[in-house]
Amino acid sequence: MPLFDTHAHLHFPDYANDLDAVLDRARAAGVRGIVTIGTDRETNRAVVALARRLPDVWATVGIHPHDAAEATEADFAEMERLAREEARVVGFGEMGLDFFRNLSPPEAQRLVFRRQIAIARAVGKPLVIHCRDAHDEALALLAEERAGEIGGVMHCFSGDVAIARRCLDLGLFISLAGPVTYKNARALPEVARFVPDDRLVVETDCPYLPPTPHRGKRNEPAYVGLTASVVAELRKTDPETLGQTLTANAAKLFGITLT
Ligand SMILES: [Zn+2]
Ligand SMILES: [Zn+2]
Repeated sequence: MPLFDTHAHLHFPDYANDLDAVLDRARAAGVRGIVTIGTDRETNRAVVALARRLPDVWATVGIHPHDAAEATEADFAEMERLAREEARVVGFGEMGLDFFRNLSPPEAQRLVFRRQIAIARAVGKPLVIHCRDAHDEALALLAEERAGEIGGVMHCFSGDVAIARRCLDLGLFISLAGPVTYKNARALPEVARFVPDDRLVVETDCPYLPPTPHRGKRNEPAYVGLTASVVAELRKTDPETLGQTLTANAAKLFGITLT
C-alpha cells in the first residue's frame, strides 16, 4: 500500500539515535514521503537541514501555538526566508490555536496564527493547522483570513462531522492520525467515512499518538499504514486504492512530485 505521512516530527530528540532505522522501516512499509513539521526557531532550522539531506523527506516551517509567546520578528523573517529560498520547504506551520493546554496566552496565539497565515499567503505555501479545543474560533479566523485561497490541511483532526464540513467548505484537506484507531475514537470513525476522496490525508504526528496497537510507545512513520488500514475499513474501500488516493492527495496538498 503506497503511503505518505503528512505530519511527523522526525527531527525531535526521540529519533536522535535511530533515525536511519526509523526511515528504513517507513520505506519498507510503503511510505513514499514524509513531511517533517517545524514548531519553533530551532526546529525550523532542523527540519530544513533534514529535508535537504533526505530525498523522501520534506519540511514545513512554523510556530506552534504552544510557542507563540516566544515568537520574535526575527523568527518571522527567518521563516519567510526559508519558505522562499528552500525548495524542500513545502508548507507553512504548524500554526493555530490550542486552548486545551494554553501554554501561550490566547492573544499571543491569535496574533502569531494570523501573522503566519499572511506569510504563507505571501510565499504561496499551504497552511498546516493545529487546532485543539478551539474549533469555532480557529475556523472563524481562517474564514476571515480567506484561508481557502491559500489552501492547507487541518492536521490531526479532532472534531466531528459538522466541523469537518466547515473545514471542507473553507477548502482545507482533513488529516486523520492515530486516534481514529482508538476504542474511544469518538466522532472520528464517522469523519473518516464522511470526508470526500479528494480531501483526505493521513499522518502519524510522531512521536506522539501512535495508532493501535502501539499506544503508549513512541510513534513512527511506518505506522501510518495502520491508520490508513482502519480508514479503509471504515470507508469500505480496498486499502491499496485508498493508499494511492491518500498519497496523491498529499502530493497535491504540498505540491510535491513523487517519482
Ligand atoms: Zn499539532
Ligand atoms: Zn505536530
